[in-house]
Amino acid sequence: MRDDFPQPVKDLLAKRVAYHCSNPNCPRHTIGPSSDPNKSIMTGEAAHITAASPGGKRYNPTLTSDERSAIDNGIWLCSYCAGLVDKDENIYTVELLRKWKSEAEQNQYQLLANPSITTQYSSIIDTSMTLTLEQLSASVKSNTATEFNKMSENWREGNRVETIKWVEDLRNDIAKWSVLTPELKAKILRLEIKLKLEENDDFAELKELAKQAYEFNPSEDDLIIKVLLILYESGTEDAIKLLEGQTDASSMNLKAALLLEMGMVDECMEILNSENQE
Ligand SMILES: [Zn+2]
Repeated sequence: MRDDFPQPVKDLLAKRVAYHCSNPNCPRHTIGPSSDPNKSIMTGEAAHITAASPGGKRYNPTLTSDERSAIDNGIWLCSYCAGLVDKDENIYTVELLRKWKSEAEQNQYQLLANPSITTQYSSIIDTSMTLTLEQLSASVKSNTATEFNKMSENWREGNRVETIKWVEDLRNDIAKWSVLTPELKAKILRLEIKLKLEENDDFAELKELAKQAYEFNPSEDDLIIKVLLILYESGTEDAIKLLEGQTDASSMNLKAALLLEMGMVDECMEILNSENQE
């Protein structure tokens, strides 16, 4: 024999959660209008926390028949969730269902008592919005990193104007720019400096960009940028001084290029040879 809930218990369980499914991952409405103006539709049910009869899920033989059909042993769920919790008692334990029930009732109390909460789904909407924004920003980051590599390549192939346009559009797109990592921002700013060096005599602006890049993410590339700025502003000799004592590959390559520029072919070859020996 089944210890079913009496109708008043079912009604009370439903009302205590405002006719919403108590599964926090669900919490759908379980009542609404029928097309017949004299009827309503109900898609929820009073589910047993411990089963109504032996052999049912989470059956507790120590309960009396009255205890089994009392409100304490019930939880309001939508039809789907009511079926779900009876599929696997290892996941849907008595403790979990009691937690759902008590939290669902507390949530409804908060909504009742606090007029500033306009929807019982607000926390769920917040979570899903955050998730979507995180996913969105992750995709912007990875797309921009890929585009950056493509654009750097594009510039090396001689398409300078197109690359400058890409950088400027990106920096003006505040929403997109704001989600990028400091490391990627620094790389993009350094690319912009290199792109603008040849045609820009506004060194103050380029120095400001260099400072921003350094602040986003200090890197050994900062020295290279500094040398390039000095090179365009005051010439090869001043630029090469900055590289004294530097032994990393990019500094050595730049030094070799500057020496070549100054016509010091032997010194240039010396550097290239010493690098090859390593
Ligand atoms: Zn449900």
